[in-house]
Formats: sequence, structure tokens, C-alpha cells
Amino acid sequence: MTTTVKAYAATAADQPLTPTTIERRDVGPHDVLIDIKFAGICHSDIHTARSEWGATNYPVVVGHEIAGIVAEVGSEVTKHSVGDRVGVGCMVDSCGECEYCTGGEEQFCVKGNVGTYAGIGKDGEPTQGGYAQAIVVTEDFVLRIPEGIELDEAAPLLCAGITTYSPLRHWNAGPGKKVAVVGLGGLGHMAVKIAAAMGAEVTVLSQSLKKQEDGLRLGATHYHATSEQSTFQDLASSFDLIVNTVSAVVDLDAYLSLLRVGGTMVNVGAPEKPLSLAVFSLIMARRSLAGSPIGGIRETQEMLDFCAEHHLGAEIEVIGAEQVNEAYERVLASDVRYRFVIDVSTLD
Ligand code: NAP
Ligand code: ZN
Repeated sequence: MTTTVKAYAATAADQPLTPTTIERRDVGPHDVLIDIKFAGICHSDIHTARSEWGATNYPVVVGHEIAGIVAEVGSEVTKHSVGDRVGVGCMVDSCGECEYCTGGEEQFCVKGNVGTYAGIGKDGEPTQGGYAQAIVVTEDFVLRIPEGIELDEAAPLLCAGITTYSPLRHWNAGPGKKVAVVGLGGLGHMAVKIAAAMGAEVTVLSQSLKKQEDGLRLGATHYHATSEQSTFQDLASSFDLIVNTVSAVVDLDAYLSLLRVGGTMVNVGAPEKPLSLAVFSLIMARRSLAGSPIGGIRETQEMLDFCAEHHLGAEIEVIGAEQVNEAYERVLASDVRYRFVIDVSTLD
């Protein structure tokens, strides 16, 4: 016996998302049933819905920025209770036994973690994500949303928040550090807020100056347009850390030249096409080029608690489910301020 819930699904790479129904598994002893209230729209949803990262298995319900309320818990569940405010991010399971899982870094699970959507669950069925009325998730992958953050503003933290918090922590963003954030979209705006709250001096590098006022309000001290060639001359060799959130191909060498000796550029943006690099940009100043995927469950909870403590929710535009295709077009046009969040009650 499964439960049927309403959802929005992608059925082909070149088709709009459409209403559908999906089945959720029965609540097992270690499972939590969550009534989804809000689901953020991550650019990864679009890459997946459109098969930009390789062939997607359709139909797929995307969405891995999930916030809701616990509706039922299995008999063995100890971490969550009915009525709790909870979230689910990009993973819903992992092997639980490898060195990374036992170390709280399930994102690196050697057997591969189970993605919230477009993965294969332990029951052998394809996983379906958050653009849906409810989800059943094993309790270890359910996060607690602290009081002090509204559920709609919390949803984007489950991907955009942790994906930027984790590298900022790993590369020690903090007082005395100059951090540049490339791209002021969903991830970028959270990177600015979090890096500023950690005490770093933050610079936004955006395609234009259109969002300058917002960037400064979110916590940046400086804001530059990358369309101006002088930006790359003026800021040469000035940053300790660059967080690149751009969803498209960028000129890596141009950005690497902005790092000080020993600085690091970490890519979280995951464009469809490969990036190229002239290695001398790294060699000449002992610079590093890195990447970083989401974050483990323990760190995701730490990020949520940090955001609550610093009053950092996402800046959101709440939409009805029927507006999802229009929202996708606006994300693709860099016209998002700064995360679309689906009000899931509009699926009813
Ligand atoms: P988003 O909201 O669309 O933001 C991307 C921003 O990049 C845009 O707002 C824009 O900022 C800039 N941009 C877009 N196209 C550009 C272009 N052609 N040239 C230069 N800049 C451009 O997307 P998001 O949800 O933040 O996701 C960003 C990327 O991160 C996506 O590729 C997504 O798949 C990836 N991602 C990775 C992880 C991970 O674990 N590493 C997790 C989540 C998402 P400006 O207008 O300010 O220039
Ligand atoms: Zn995401």
C-alpha cells in the first residue's frame, strides 16, 4: 500500500512541467512522513528537468529544497515527532557504513548517496522530489528547522544554504578574509549573506550593476560588473577565496587572476559544458581550483542553526505550482530575486 500525492513533473527535456500524481511508500519503522509546505526552485532542478547533465529518466518530480511539517513517524523514529518543522535537502539516504557516512559527510558516500530526485531508492524505485504534497524520508536525512526562520524562507537553505555554507566554512571565510561571490542568484545571494555573517569582507561579481543595491543590502561591501573589463584589472590578485555560483561556462583564467597568492576558487556552479583552463593561472601564484557538493547532514543542521542565530532566511518570491514554468524562464534569464519557492498548498 502506498499513498498517492499530487505533484508537478517533467516528462521530457523540451516539455513544460505538468500536474501529475506520484506514489509515496508506506511509512516504515525509521521513516518520517512530511507534509510539504514549500519547495524551492534550484537551478539544478532545471538542469535535471531538461537533461542538461545527461539523460534524465522521465517522468521526474524535481525539488530538493523542501520545508514542511511531520505528519507521521515510524515506530522506531526517535529524532522527529508529529508536528515538527522539518526540511529535506538533496539526499534522502546513503550506505551509512563507509568512512564518509560514519564521519557525517554522506555527500561523499562511496556507494553514492541517494538523491532526493532522479536517484534510485533502497526499494529500487526512482526517487521523486519536493514539487509534491508529501514525501517519506528515513529519519536520519530529515533536518530540524529552528524557530526564527519561516518555513518558506528556510526551504532554499536546504540546498542553496548548505552548498555555500560548506565551502565557506571549509576554506575558513571569516574576519580578515576577502571573499568574492560570482553570480547573484539563489546560491550567490546565500553565499553573500553567510560569508558576511561569518565576518568576511564580501565582494559580489555580477554580470551587471542591476542588483548592486540588493548585494550591498545582503551584506557585501563591494559590487562589480564582470561585463566591465576594468573590473578584472582593478581587482587583480585581491581575494583569498572566490565562490563561483554561475550556472554557465565562465572564463576561469580571468577569475583565477583575481586570487592572491595561495588563494582558492571553489566552483559550486555546475554548468552543462566543461570549463577550460590555462594552468599558468594556477602555477604563477600557487592558486587552487576546487569544487564542492552540498554538505553532510550534520553540517546542514549546523548551517540551519547558524542561519537561525544570524536571522538569515533566503530572499524569496513565493509562487503557485502553476507558475513553475514561468519561474524557470525567469531563472534562466537571471531574473530571480533571489529564489522562487513553490507554495505547495496550490497543488490541492
Ligand atoms: P541561479 O539562481 O540561476 O543563479 C546563477 C547566477 O549565475 C545568475 O543569477 C547570474 O548571476 C549568473 N549567471 C547566469 N548565467 C550566466 C552567464 N551566462 N554568465 C555569467 N553569469 C551568469 O542558479 P542557482 O540555483 O544559484 O545555481 C547555480 C549553479 O549551481 C547551477 O549550475 C546549479 O546546478 C549549481 N548547484 C550546484 C550545487 C552543488 O552541490 N555544487 C548545488 C546546487 C546548485 P548575475 O545575474 O548576478 O550575473
Ligand atoms: Zn540545488
